[in-house]
Amino acid sequence: MTKQYETVIGLEVHVELATKTKIFCSCSTEFGGEPNTHTCPVCTGMPGSLPVLNKKVVEYAIAIGLATNCDITRVCRFDRKNYFYPDNPQNYQISQLYLPIAANGHVEIEVGDKKKKIRIHEMHMEEDAGKLIHDEWDDTSLVDYNRSGVPLVEIVSEPDMRSADEVIAYLEKLRMIIQYLGASDCKLQEGSMRADVNLSVREAGTEKFGTRTEMKNLNSFKAIARAIQGERERQIELLEEGKAVIQETRRWDDNKEYSYAMRSKEDAKDYRYFPEPDLVPIVISDEWIGQIQKKQPELRTEKLKRYQKEFDIPQYDAQIITGSRHMAEIFEEASAICGKPKKVRQRWLLEASPRRCPTG
Ligand code: ADP
Ligand code: MG
Ligand code: ZN
Repeated sequence: MTKQYETVIGLEVHVELATKTKIFCSCSTEFGGEPNTHTCPVCTGMPGSLPVLNKKVVEYAIAIGLATNCDITRVCRFDRKNYFYPDNPQNYQISQLYLPIAANGHVEIEVGDKKKKIRIHEMHMEEDAGKLIHDEWDDTSLVDYNRSGVPLVEIVSEPDMRSADEVIAYLEKLRMIIQYLGASDCKLQEGSMRADVNLSVREAGTEKFGTRTEMKNLNSFKAIARAIQGERERQIELLEEGKAVIQETRRWDDNKEYSYAMRSKEDAKDYRYFPEPDLVPIVISDEWIGQIQKKQPELRTEKLKRYQKEFDIPQYDAQIITGSRHMAEIFEEASAICGKPKKVRQRWLLEASPRRCPTG
């Protein structure tokens, strides 16, 4: 009899925050400017320049942490992650290792009729790197530092997912929460949401996790689903041949539908982390958290429940209407004006295709 295998997946999700300016300088974060026009001595790593923290980054991070049921770290700080790469002009990235801003959270996903909690190990703030452009000339690579210093949060899940469907449900859940908060537009294609997939397989029924690989370069839900399938098969094949899975970082090539080894997995010690000496620790008071908590909008999950209960709208329709916060607000305003939410929903779904509505 052939062996049955279970897939085990944990995600590291990077989200670019919707601040107007970068995390440690006042350059614009706008996507798509002429290369190297949104830059200054700080975000191009000039010697002697000093970072100044953008308070809005911390507020967005707290908002996401609260909405994903995390504990907020009251005294947190930044650490220096040292590595050399041409897209990283300082030769280090300012990130958080020891005291990330949020930890021990979870979100609930639904696949089929099954509800499941996906635990969030931690979430930290960090700066994005620049962008290397390899394909314009054969013998030269170009670098664009417009993205260097754009604020990110990285959300690290526990290895709680077991299928591509669960992974996509988790990503959609995160995307909805963060979009409703206005903390990011979460566009996979533009890279404002990026997922690294950590995957291992184990024989069904066994406790111990297998050795995992990490896959990068996934920029659509479809690519993620294909990568999971491809990597699961590759690992099972190795095990069936009596070989070992090597812990490494792999790049998924969505055209060839195969992943390639990029580098062996690095450890925290390889980065020689140390507390960032140019920034003071961040003290987060109860008052500050309270203010942010008060401003949290009603999120999609609550809206879905309320629409069904209060307005007696079928779940499917409620899902369409709450597909973006902007659409939900138009629906609520129209309902408030005419006092007939069911009519609004009916006319909307009949006449105005939700796809034609402006989604902000
Ligand atoms: P590192 O610090 O080396 O990146 P972590 O322990 O922080 O490793 O895990 C990184 C990600 O890998 C997390 O999302 C975690 O859920 C996931 N992960 C850890 N072990 C496994 C495993 N055996 N199989 C699948 N995913 C895993
Ligand atoms: Mg990691
Ligand atoms: Zn700058």
